Amino acid sequence: MSLPPALTRIADGIHAWVPQKNGTWGFANCLVIASGTEAALVDTPYDGPLTRTLMAAATAVLPEGARVRTIVNTHANGDHTFGNAFFPGAEIISTRASLDHLCLEPDPEAMHLLTHTTPADEPLGWYMRKHFGHYRYDGLQLRPPTRTFTGRHTLHVGTVPVELIEVGPAHTVGDLIVHLPEQATVCAGDILFVGDHPVHWEGPLSRVARACETILALNPRTVVPGHGPIVGPEGVRDHLTYLRDLETLIHAGHAAGRSARTTAEAIIESGFHSHLGLPERLLIQTAVEYRHLDEDTSAPDLIALAREAAQWAFDRRPDSPAPDAVPARHAPEPDVWARRHDHARSV
Ligand SMILES: [Zn+2]
Repeated sequence: MSLPPALTRIADGIHAWVPQKNGTWGFANCLVIASGTEAALVDTPYDGPLTRTLMAAATAVLPEGARVRTIVNTHANGDHTFGNAFFPGAEIISTRASLDHLCLEPDPEAMHLLTHTTPADEPLGWYMRKHFGHYRYDGLQLRPPTRTFTGRHTLHVGTVPVELIEVGPAHTVGDLIVHLPEQATVCAGDILFVGDHPVHWEGPLSRVARACETILALNPRTVVPGHGPIVGPEGVRDHLTYLRDLETLIHAGHAAGRSARTTAEAIIESGFHSHLGLPERLLIQTAVEYRHLDEDTSAPDLIALAREAAQWAFDRRPDSPAPDAVPARHAPEPDVWARRHDHARSV
């Protein structure tokens, strides 16, 4: 797997790591902030090899003797947090809601089981191996946040002011964005995807749109998305248009009494933003939006959502036989999302 050997410079002491390949899951962007002997990271990669690649690249731009003492997690998804394990002693900051949300996230062991023990010839197992099989989850320890806040929180990395602004619930229940006012830069986390269809797990889409408006109100010159290339404010405006158009289509399907699956498939087949990767995410997104429209407050069945998306992609894989030649079989998966972590109350 080829990864960028160098960071992208945004301003003095501010660099981004942008490992995105279109049509992939898990290659999240990270931001390195350095000033004097202080350094901070916004988000950490999905596993050990990725984190070591990032830090090797960061060594070239970090001042002599600088150490990462602070990590900001934009939200609790593993592709933004699992690398926390490689910074013992660092303070890890997130929103309070993000820490609470950790107990609903699959941990590294759960991801390892889902990726390696689900049957490889069935949709979910095939999809997990295709998109997550190259990550090394075995033996990874979770390092949850050590400091949380609600609303806003400002910190300094050396002399660089860093403003954290809670914008969740949106992509997840506990999203934050990172604003560097002196560099006119915003780190959007997964409020913003560039190059692939987004997957906003919490929703509704109107909340993600509102978070995009919060980013634009900061008048940034540079916006680092959670996934995909760095953009200017026009990239955020494009995503806002995407979100509003998608919301209109999903709400129309719901009002017409169509199932979430039928609505999602119709949206994909209409060619909605067909230049973007991972169209199967629209099945998840539509189901999440329907939950809000139906005022369904029960815990979402994430594995059922993942299975729907996997089935859609499986049926359209390049070497796929005709869909009716494939009998539907559902082997039980490990009960990974039923597990709960005790550490989430340790702060
Ligand atoms: Zn992500």
